[in-house]
Amino acid sequence: MSRPIRATIHTEALRHNLARARALVPDAKLWAVVKANAYGHGIERVFEGLRGADGFALLDLNEAQRVRDLGWRGPILLIEGVFEQRDLELCSRLGLWHTVHCEEQIDMLATHKTHVGHRVFLKMNSGMNRLGFAPQRYRAAWSRLSALPQVEEISHFTHFACADEDGGIARQIEVFETHTHDLPGERSLSNSAALLRTCNLPSDWMRPGVLLYGASPDFPAHTAQDWGLQPAMSLRSRVVGVQQLQAGDTVGYGARFTAPGPMRIGVVACGYADGYLRSSGSVSPTPVLVDGQRAQIVGRVSMDLITVDLSHLPDAGMGSEVTLWGSSSQGHLLPIDEVAQSAGSIGYELMCALAARVPVDLVD
Ligand SMILES: *Cc1c(COP(=O)(O)O)cnc(C)c1O
Repeated sequence: MSRPIRATIHTEALRHNLARARALVPDAKLWAVVKANAYGHGIERVFEGLRGADGFALLDLNEAQRVRDLGWRGPILLIEGVFEQRDLELCSRLGLWHTVHCEEQIDMLATHKTHVGHRVFLKMNSGMNRLGFAPQRYRAAWSRLSALPQVEEISHFTHFACADEDGGIARQIEVFETHTHDLPGERSLSNSAALLRTCNLPSDWMRPGVLLYGASPDFPAHTAQDWGLQPAMSLRSRVVGVQQLQAGDTVGYGARFTAPGPMRIGVVACGYADGYLRSSGSVSPTPVLVDGQRAQIVGRVSMDLITVDLSHLPDAGMGSEVTLWGSSSQGHLLPIDEVAQSAGSIGYELMCALAARVPVDLVD
């Protein structure tokens, strides 16, 4: 038998989460953000569940190629635009829409030879100070782009820094509106947090990412369940060893856990080489489900194994199913956001970190 750890991707959950977003913003178009290999889920695996989106947004040209290879003829947006001149050839050939966030990208477009008109999303730095034109330079960039024969249509784009906080987007929207209100073109403003938390955003194209995968963008203020989302990924394994401890016995590398009394420990086939965070438990005890019931990790996460306290679960033992996040095979839920929180991280990081050695099943 192979090592029992497996990830499961739930197509129906992806469909459900996309439908949730649609219901919240029925008049907007939705980019399904599938960067980072669909947040670790696999672009090919999520395609069926997300093909009801209006377009796919991603970073890497090779991911764009893969979406086209799946037969998708609709819009694809390169969220960060091109990284070098020759990327534009692929944009022309695959009909990719691309962000323009700096003068250098306009220079590249200006010297690009093409018969295909490009659809460009011009990005404003409205306060996050990562990518984008400063508000004062935005109009000049727009004018320059408008004058290029390579450019067919220009939309307006910005990204929020604090969409997961109360009032966190008002200032950025104001800056964006001030500098774009009289320019023609569609607008794209919203990540998952803004989509879920804000009504009537002035955005034609929303850009939900993490909500599609069933994690909450503003945990712990809201859980995924609060938002009506279902986990699109479950990570499950099994107990492959059991140890009986006495008071004073220690567990794992660095002997970081000492048994206060007699205990039963389940050893689970999952470790940091599977993408499970080694820092799990550094902030608060890390939950797992054993046969659908809550238990906690004790001791350090090692490369291939973790250790779980089974003392309160007399029926659990060798072969018991352990859910690391998502849903158990019986449907019990363990939110990925809660697991991430125990490591001082976020659900996004956990799903993206799923390691290549973990076999993945796709279910409806
Ligand atoms: C990743 C990303 C998104 C999606 O963010 P979520 O928080 O996952 O919804 C939206 N817009 C841009 C520019 C991004 O880079």
